[in-house]
Amino acid sequence: MVLFWFRRDLRLHDNTGFFKALTSGAQVLPFFIFDTDILDKLDDTQDARVTFIYKTIENLHQQLETYNSTLLVKYGKPEAVIAELLQTYAVEAIYTNHDYEPYSRQRDLRLQQLLKKHNVSFCSFKDQVIFEKEEIMTQSGSPYKVYTPYKNSWLKAFKPEHAEEAPSQHQLQHLLNHAKTKVPTLHKMGFQVSEVEVPDPDVSADTLSAYHDTRNLPALDATSRLSVHLRFGTFSVRQAVQLALRHNKVWLQELIWREFFMQLLYHFPQTTNESFYPKFRQITWRNNEQEFEKWCQGTTGFPLVDAGMRELNQTGFMHNRVRMVVASFLVKDLFVDWRWGEAYFAAKLLDYEQSSNIGNWQWAAGTGADAQPYFRIFNPDSQVKKFDKQHEYIKRWVPEFGTAAYPAPMVDHSQARDRALQEFKKSIEMM
Ligand code: FAD
Repeated sequence: MVLFWFRRDLRLHDNTGFFKALTSGAQVLPFFIFDTDILDKLDDTQDARVTFIYKTIENLHQQLETYNSTLLVKYGKPEAVIAELLQTYAVEAIYTNHDYEPYSRQRDLRLQQLLKKHNVSFCSFKDQVIFEKEEIMTQSGSPYKVYTPYKNSWLKAFKPEHAEEAPSQHQLQHLLNHAKTKVPTLHKMGFQVSEVEVPDPDVSADTLSAYHDTRNLPALDATSRLSVHLRFGTFSVRQAVQLALRHNKVWLQELIWREFFMQLLYHFPQTTNESFYPKFRQITWRNNEQEFEKWCQGTTGFPLVDAGMRELNQTGFMHNRVRMVVASFLVKDLFVDWRWGEAYFAAKLLDYEQSSNIGNWQWAAGTGADAQPYFRIFNPDSQVKKFDKQHEYIKRWVPEFGTAAYPAPMVDHSQARDRALQEFKKSIEMM
């Protein structure tokens, strides 16, 4: 028999590694680990992502029981859990899908060593992207650092078969018959149920075909809300690409941004914690904690920034246009290290994706690969005029906007802008 390890691919249909396991000729027993190395780092015991994963896992568990099989749900460190599984079952191989984050790659290397000692194969597959690792490289064989040529190469390399589904859902007769098992409770793992709901994706023809016109208007809620589902694999990227090809090429470009940042993090894992270019590593950030706190709470006196931060705090989501505005404001107007903002988003975003978050924060800060040039600084008031003219989005999240209760702007944008420009220049001159 072989084991299939669900990780960030929490679905039975169109799952490459699962399909490969089910068609390997062996019977398949699936498992999932609530990884204490990850869970122990979360501060919020009501973390909405943990609740979402938990509900998804319960659902998979129930579905697999209808096939007289089960999902083994474990809680612990992956090495310890897997060592125990090898003691209990006569395992020939562990199947799974690739995971490209630095932590996951190291974990998988350690596990491969463990499995080797037991003569068990580790069979891992590409599933969460269309193109991975070295598949899209420049002509000189190096990774792309700029999005547009990456996107052009991606589109050139793409063939319809890249988005063909891996029909795992039609192979479930190869699951191992297994007695019923229990899912450990959330409570036992030190968590409580969060009230924050994860919305279903909206990938309707109407939404996607209007995307290029509506995507920048936060009041409309007109984007797909797919990010959290791509993060945890409750939606397949191949299906997303098929929809994009059918309905809107502009939306396809967004999916390619996701892959661009994934390959960047894969090739440059050191950028998790430092600016992509050394010339920006000398900056002396102001890092004023009280000012940072105002940004976190959405009480800066800049209404689009405040609306965005309150949306994030209440729902775990923020519209992309507003993410760009709040990020620029924190880094340029308050001159706070982009890593503080990145960490705050990482704690709050339901769709937190290390590669996209770091890539976009460095883009907004002007310190990243293919970043917005550091001297292009968003004016938070002009952004309101362009994208929320009627203050519809702002009033949804900041009900006191326009009343005496709403705070005055905490900085003078034009002075703050000049201060940021000077500091950036200083850092470049130090190189
Ligand atoms: P849609 O507009 O419908 O786009 C479809 C999909 O394309 C998204 O689900 C996402 O997978 C991908 N996508 C769209 N824009 C981007 C982008 N700029 N970069 C990478 N992928 C993109 N996205 C995350 O998934 N996780 C993050 O942690 C994250 N952090 C961000 C931090 C900052 C400072 C900024 C400016 C953007 C960040 N984004 C992040 C990108 C983007 O804001 C979200 O992907 C998007 O808002 C999710 O909403 P949606 O699913 O409705 O997107």
